[in-house]
Amino acid sequence: MRRAASLLLLALLTAVPALADPLPTKADQVVQYQIRVALDPGKRQLTGTERLTWRNPSTADSVSELQFHLYLNAFKNTKSTFVKESGGQLRGDEMAKDSWGWIDVVSIKTTSGADLKPTFAFIQPDDGNKDDQTVARVVLPEPVPPGGSVTLDIAFTSKLPQVFARTGYKDDFYLVGQWFPKLGVYEPAGMRGRETGGWNCHQFHANSEFYADYGAYAVDITAPSNYIIGATGERKHEHANNNGTTTYTYEQADIHDFAWTADPDYIVVKATFSATQDVTPAEYASISKLLGRSLDEVKLSDVEITVLLQPAHRPQAQRHIDAAKAGLKWFGLWYGRYPYKTLTVVDPAPGASGAGGMEYPTFITAGSAWMFNYWPFDRIRAVEEVTVHEFGHQFWYALVGSNEFEEAWLDEGFNTWSTGKAMVATFGPEKTIMEFLGITMGDQDMLRASNDPGARYNRILARSWEYTPASTYGFYSYMKPALVLNTLEGYLGEQGMARLMRTYHERWRFRHPRSEDFFALVNEMTGQDYGWYFDQVVRGTDTVDYDIGSATTRAVRRPRGVFDEPGGRKTVSSEDAAKQDLEAERAKKQAYESVVVVRRSGGVRLPVEVAFKFEGKPVERQTWDGRDPAKTFRFERPEKLEWVDVDPDRKIALDANWLNNGRRLANDSRPAASWAARWLFLVQSIFTTLGLL
Ligand SMILES: [Zn+2]
Repeated sequence: MRRAASLLLLALLTAVPALADPLPTKADQVVQYQIRVALDPGKRQLTGTERLTWRNPSTADSVSELQFHLYLNAFKNTKSTFVKESGGQLRGDEMAKDSWGWIDVVSIKTTSGADLKPTFAFIQPDDGNKDDQTVARVVLPEPVPPGGSVTLDIAFTSKLPQVFARTGYKDDFYLVGQWFPKLGVYEPAGMRGRETGGWNCHQFHANSEFYADYGAYAVDITAPSNYIIGATGERKHEHANNNGTTTYTYEQADIHDFAWTADPDYIVVKATFSATQDVTPAEYASISKLLGRSLDEVKLSDVEITVLLQPAHRPQAQRHIDAAKAGLKWFGLWYGRYPYKTLTVVDPAPGASGAGGMEYPTFITAGSAWMFNYWPFDRIRAVEEVTVHEFGHQFWYALVGSNEFEEAWLDEGFNTWSTGKAMVATFGPEKTIMEFLGITMGDQDMLRASNDPGARYNRILARSWEYTPASTYGFYSYMKPALVLNTLEGYLGEQGMARLMRTYHERWRFRHPRSEDFFALVNEMTGQDYGWYFDQVVRGTDTVDYDIGSATTRAVRRPRGVFDEPGGRKTVSSEDAAKQDLEAERAKKQAYESVVVVRRSGGVRLPVEVAFKFEGKPVERQTWDGRDPAKTFRFERPEKLEWVDVDPDRKIALDANWLNNGRRLANDSRPAASWAARWLFLVQSIFTTLGLL
């Protein structure tokens, strides 16, 4: 007995305490929504009631008003900020004539009966456009104290627009997003750098649409019984009513939005992501090593996948499932397990592509077309790219809830970077975009093809509606940030970057970070100040392109002429000198002078390596700080310089042109722009035309 006890004590004393898994399992619940909604397909309308509880997250502020998103009003008339900004067009799609959408708050009361409707007013915090009705506020009868809460009963009616921008109907297809009165985020002082507490509730814009608080949703959806329904969260209950409709109950906690879909034509395809079968023990082991985390910490959990597919896209069912599984696997392994039990992938109806490529918690819309059923288009991985990207938003948007209006790169850019990685992990680096007729194209090629050296008039860190022109939002929120992260990975190395992104995700899961939080974490984890980098490439507007200005290597000739030496004046004739030069060359004692000018165009100054290869010698590298516009490297050696290459490992993905980085001196043949590069533009324009990027 005693012996056993002392062994136990010894075991307790010597055991390495298991560190708690730092991945949060739950969100701090600020909001609770209980919604009942009925779809009237004849009128294209929703009738709903909403019981909403909001808890004041502040420890110091009493809050006397609430602010709501009423985003369907973006489609109410041509005076809305959204229509003004977009010109009634978005992602290649056009608004259908007279197909307006709107949301009316019919009544709004506290549960103790106080009518808030008289205080209801539209506000325009972003642009002061008095005609915009996408944000409203109400004044409470008494302020909510710090930590206190208030519950409201709201009745609303929503009219859906014909799908062209993200939400609406097309024939019998419905994608119902941004459809209910949804609270903005109350940010107490200190949160996201705020000096004083206040609501953060932006109007609906052409670019970006998400920022809301975490909580629990329980939603009853009633629709005609012939419709197939899909929604955020888990279906808990289903009840046939006696009027030809059915009511479905969905529930999900730890989310900040809720969307659903209805269509009688869907083919329902189900699959399970298995944490034990879809990831091999070797894959778990290698991720655990890469991240420096225990196997338990990287272990994933099972997820039920539902694909709601259009009959015309039946041959693509497995592609969507495989893509969803690739997302669940790689994002889960890298950043932390997907915490929800379900994932629904919606395939929008033909003609409703404006509803495609969207993200909502546990619910995404794909982007497809019938042509991807057939060769050679079945070899273009657009279906996979879109599904993996939208899935990726579960991590950068749903789980890490950055403010898309103010810092879109924190979701779209982080997600573009992560999507590229997941596609590479699934298909290999060369073939992520397409693979046919022996032509392959990778994600990195595609991103780099978008990096126009003239793109120097906007910055990544800008509010989404302030890009000029508005169409540059795509480059600065998706592509350039992915190149910024790729370049950062070049500096930190694969392991350093993997650990950084894991830690960033963990710390901010179910929270609202801003760019400064990411920058601070980079500094913390590297022990260096990376301000020089982010100041230039995220806050700054300029570009960078390294190239070789000139490179020469030539024999050092013996001096010729009249020389005053201690023994008297001596003349060396050109003939004698040439003879000596020739002898030296024959004896292999000739010296060569090599001069290389490396140049930087663009104002972004990044330290860069330059590789030099001398005849018969191993490659030598030197680092240049890149501060001056050009640097001359001069060598005098017995060997000729064969070639020079700036950034030989191509770590600086932001470099606008890699074709001018190297120079071969033997027969100075600069690589010409390859026809493969022209392919990139072609395929890219196909993707853009389809609205998939
Ligand atoms: Zn996205």
